[in-house]
Amino acid sequence: MTVMKIPFMNLKRQYLEIEKEIQEALLRVFERSSFILGPEGKKFEEQFAQYIGVPYGIGVNSGTDALYLALLALGIGQGDEVLTVANTAIPTVSAIIASGAKPVFVDIEKNTYLMDTTQIERKITPQTKAILPVHLYGNCVALDHVLETAKKHCLFVIEDCAQAHGASFKGRKAGSFGDISCFSFYPTKNLGAYGDAGIILTKNPDIARKLLLLRQYGEEKRYFTVINGFNSRLDELQAAVLLVKQQYLENWNKKRKDIAQKYISGINNKKITLPIIKEDVYPVFHLFVIQTSDRAHFQEYMKNKGISTAIHYPLPLHLQKAYSSLGYAKGSLPVTEEVMEHIVSIPLFPELTSFEIDYIITVINEY
Ligand SMILES: *Cc1c(COP(=O)(O)O)cnc(C)c1O
Repeated sequence: MTVMKIPFMNLKRQYLEIEKEIQEALLRVFERSSFILGPEGKKFEEQFAQYIGVPYGIGVNSGTDALYLALLALGIGQGDEVLTVANTAIPTVSAIIASGAKPVFVDIEKNTYLMDTTQIERKITPQTKAILPVHLYGNCVALDHVLETAKKHCLFVIEDCAQAHGASFKGRKAGSFGDISCFSFYPTKNLGAYGDAGIILTKNPDIARKLLLLRQYGEEKRYFTVINGFNSRLDELQAAVLLVKQQYLENWNKKRKDIAQKYISGINNKKITLPIIKEDVYPVFHLFVIQTSDRAHFQEYMKNKGISTAIHYPLPLHLQKAYSSLGYAKGSLPVTEEVMEHIVSIPLFPELTSFEIDYIITVINEY
């Protein structure tokens, strides 16, 4: 078998498929020359909120800002605790800390890599204000259990949907369950802009109004500020790109799911543990994460066969240097810590060819 060269991700392939539409959309913005808070952003906010099934959408600068402003809008800050996981992208936790609150970590399930919702309750203290589940890798946390627990203890639910655009749980889209949900449109996400972008969704009109203030200097009308705000806006060029790309999201997600299905039915190497998707979930496979005991050896093997791999993520957040003063201990999240030693992501993006997919499966089975 000749060695192929397979990247972990390739955005250029996707761009070439939609080149003409993207260029027309960008030209439309240049011609209009309104670059901030114009018609593209407004249309995208409406269209995306409708797609997820939530009435209000507030476009912002990034997924990190979406989470940060969501916490502020709910009045969460100094002295409060927010329950989340340590197996997530750094920004989930940076946003909590930026708000002044303390992240408290719930361990994960070994087979789904997601928050173990049966362990939420014993982490709740009088300081707990919110549960922040992360729908990691395009999979969905058991939201019914999260909502039940939140209701019982009067906690807010903020969904981190940065890796789960279009995923659903029991027939409803991720992002339509919580008090607020936050999406990132970082270029490599399932729906990605050509720069930074994000959105906050909510069912609550008062929260929506507050978020509109927070994203632009607290201005109720131009040059009159009523609460201290920030600058976190979704610009018109990014919104125009997102409007084009949103039309393809379902199809791209389906392609991701088909590739995942091929991996799941094709990979039969005993040294590899495949991801588990629960029955209630429609996953969108932002990443395809497997486990293997000697990860470094496996990655080296894949590299020699021309296949790029990555680790999402190599160090759990409770063990990161930046948070060393917050009192987290090694050994406190046994499943997270164990899983993080073995996880490795293999290429999965909609533009992978069937030739490449077959090659990846063969190479892994020969490992
Ligand atoms: C990408 C990501 C974010 C942050 O999004 P940015 O747009 O990069 O700020 C937050 N949470 C998770 C789980 C992510 O994957």
